[in-house]
Amino acid sequence: MPEIIFASRNKGKIQEVKDILVDTGLHIISLLDLNDHEDIIEDGLTFEENAVKKASHVFNKYKIPVIADDSGLVVNQLNGRPGVHSARYSGTNASDDQNNLKLIEELKYLPEPHPAYYVCSAVCYYGDNYLTAEGKENGIIILNPKGSNGFGYDPLFIPENYSVTMAELDPKEKNKISHRAKAFNELKKKISF
Ligand code: IMP
Repeated sequence: MPEIIFASRNKGKIQEVKDILVDTGLHIISLLDLNDHEDIIEDGLTFEENAVKKASHVFNKYKIPVIADDSGLVVNQLNGRPGVHSARYSGTNASDDQNNLKLIEELKYLPEPHPAYYVCSAVCYYGDNYLTAEGKENGIIILNPKGSNGFGYDPLFIPENYSVTMAELDPKEKNKISHRAKAFNELKKKISF
């Protein structure tokens, strides 16, 4: 079974990506499996730049194909914030709860609705070249968190055409509609090893 590294330590993401790629026959090894805790500075201006940076860095270390993603939440009323800074919105090593509180604080005096979208840039890097794909999911932000599935901003994000938050959805349902599912399903079509 061909091995591929998924350059992430985020348990929520790792499970989602393993589920999306289950039919590829790839054996996915995460940075948690490798006990690799090196911090890769995400200083790119775009999601794709950061995803390529993560994937190429990890490829150069282990010399086997790597997939990586960079993802985040873009809120129109906040001029695109938290954007590429989604993981560390309320500071380095911020928890999901701290980031969610900061988002609520920033939005609470702004008029409803609060439209937003998730974006995910997925990359497969195999040395000579790399493949990319992008996925988006539109929705609105609510200010009272609901649900305990998923991770990150999911308790505050109601996807378009739904009446519950991403964190209230069954993980299988999230994986049918999410930005990450769209990006990795697209990437999957391009991977040929
Ligand atoms: P990354 O690990 O640098 O890609 O950071 C992703 C960050 O964006 C996460 O820590 C979350 O804050 C947010 N994010 C990305 N995808 C999701 C998702 O599917 N649900 C909730 N939050 C997400």
